[in-house]
Amino acid sequence: MDILPDGDQVSESLINVITSLPTIDTLLPHTFPNGSHVDSLSVSCIECGSNIPHENIHGKLEIRNKHTAQLQAHLLCYHCQVVAYYEARLHDDGTVLIRTEGGWTEERYSPQRPVTLQDHFLKLIETAKKLF
Ligand SMILES: [Zn+2]
Repeated sequence: MDILPDGDQVSESLINVITSLPTIDTLLPHTFPNGSHVDSLSVSCIECGSNIPHENIHGKLEIRNKHTAQLQAHLLCYHCQVVAYYEARLHDDGTVLIRTEGGWTEERYSPQRPVTLQDHFLKLIETAKKLF
C-alpha cells in the first residue's frame, strides 16, 4: 500500500489507525427521519485546497438526535502529504456546520431544505389570501 512518509506530523502507526476507520462513502448517504439526506460532502484540503476523495476521508458518524448527526473524520491528502482533522455537524434542515480555526462555518449540503407539510399549508394560505 502506498503510504505517507514517516514525517514530522504523520507517523505510520497514525496512518494505520486512521485507515482502519471506515471511509465516508460507507457512512453516507445518511437519511434523517424527516427525509432529508446527505449524499456526499465536498471536502477540500486545508493546505492545498484540492478536493479530498471520499475514500481518503476516514472517521465515524454519530447520530446525536433525530435532527443532528456529527461527523468526526481524518482527511488524508496524498497530494501535500498531510493529515487533517475534520468535524462537521449535519442537520436535517440541509445545513452543515463545519469546524474551522475561527469557530463553526455554516454551509449547505442540500441546495434547499425539504418541503414540509407546513410549507404546503403556508403556500395554500398565501394563495388563499391573494384570492380574497
Ligand atoms: Zn493537500
